[in-house]
Amino acid sequence: MKSQKQLIEKFGDPYKDRASFEKKWMQLWDVPQEINEAIPALPNKIYCNYYVITPLEDTLRELIANDLHKEIRTWDGCFNIRTKRGSSGISTHAWGIAVDLNAAWNPFKGKVTWSKEFVSVWRNNGWICGADWSAKSKDGMHFQWEGF
Ligand SMILES: [Zn+2]
Repeated sequence: MKSQKQLIEKFGDPYKDRASFEKKWMQLWDVPQEINEAIPALPNKIYCNYYVITPLEDTLRELIANDLHKEIRTWDGCFNIRTKRGSSGISTHAWGIAVDLNAAWNPFKGKVTWSKEFVSVWRNNGWICGADWSAKSKDGMHFQWEGF
């Protein structure tokens, strides 16, 4: 997992200079229509770090191909300049490289309701899954992409 220092070196500090961070890295992704049709919970446009667009699209397509996409019930956000839950560190959401899904069923430090197969597809596409974290930071709703 990348450290906060590495992420700041790569993308800058969104807290200190949000405008230039957004201008350089953030993009409004037009979610392909067939993905929206398969997963109605997703918005039509997702504002995210442009590094995430290809892996997110690939992951969603693989979920659909394996009939695992039906597990996605709610979209709970991507870009959000905030600290980590339960910590003073900067959340990867502040760089737009993380997405939250099914938050109500996969609360921070709580249970994880995804199937093993669902989480495997994310892992195999280069995502770090909060479901894999130890009990004190387990975050089942959370998927972050650090394949750069
Ligand atoms: Zn998250």
